[in-house]
Amino acid sequence: MPNDHYLYVPSLGKELQGCPPVSITGSYCALRCKHCNAKILERMVPAETPWKLVKVVEELHKRGAKSVLISGGSNQWGQVPFEEFVDAIKCIRGLGLRVYMHTGLVDEYRAQLLKEAGIDAALIDFTVEERVVREVLNLGVAPENFIDSVRNLVRFSVRVVPHIVIGVYRGEPSGEKRAVDALKSLNPDAVVLVVFTPLPNTPFGNCHPPPPTYVSEVLKYARYSLPNTPLSYGCMKPHRESYQLLEIEVIQLGFDGISFPSYSTVEYIINENIPFRVLQECCAYIAVQK
Ligand code: SF4
Repeated sequence: MPNDHYLYVPSLGKELQGCPPVSITGSYCALRCKHCNAKILERMVPAETPWKLVKVVEELHKRGAKSVLISGGSNQWGQVPFEEFVDAIKCIRGLGLRVYMHTGLVDEYRAQLLKEAGIDAALIDFTVEERVVREVLNLGVAPENFIDSVRNLVRFSVRVVPHIVIGVYRGEPSGEKRAVDALKSLNPDAVVLVVFTPLPNTPFGNCHPPPPTYVSEVLKYARYSLPNTPLSYGCMKPHRESYQLLEIEVIQLGFDGISFPSYSTVEYIINENIPFRVLQECCAYIAVQK
């Protein structure tokens, strides 16, 4: 099985493995968003049937996994098609594993199914920018569908952790502050901010990430606008030196979590005696531990 998320931190004496992502659609995605083109699915463990999902997760469990991230490509309506997997997810929960799930858009019926499945948190890429929905996500729905999805999950008491991809529109400002504003009244359990990072062999492969100054502006805006919401600086972000200072900045801003920090950030945390916990878990854990 692939083992992408791996970090060795000598000063902690720990070898860290992340929460392994599993795709219930294998490498298939009907949307093929321009920033991804289904490339992220290639790094996941395929489990296209409920039976295979249970077997794959049982194997991960035997190898010591405490949680799993169930993901997959979307259908043409922007939904990860998990409807047939509800019993399999219940079975995984029965093993004692925490289950995080990329859901895509969620209507009332799907929210109810997720409640029944007993997942620990639903993760949804969140935007209110029409050109992002239409031109980046290749979706023919109104941005209000993203707001409704979060609302439906909250209504059915499913923990929800929206993700905002800073600069997802070709690395340009992409309505991130309006997305933060919309989340203020929706009361999500946590919010994750990530940074558009061009992937090879995607339509946006030649674009650049948003400049660090812009990322910094959005991170500050999110922290000040959502003072009581757990915030995490998530997995997708450029790891170039010019972006590493942003990791220190989120710590100083009081973010609650940071995924795959660079070595210099780990050193900073240790040298400054900042209390921390190392978790081999999806960054949405900040919503679960509340
Ligand atoms: S829906 Fe998800 S998997 Fe499919 S292309 Fe978009 S980001 Fe990638």
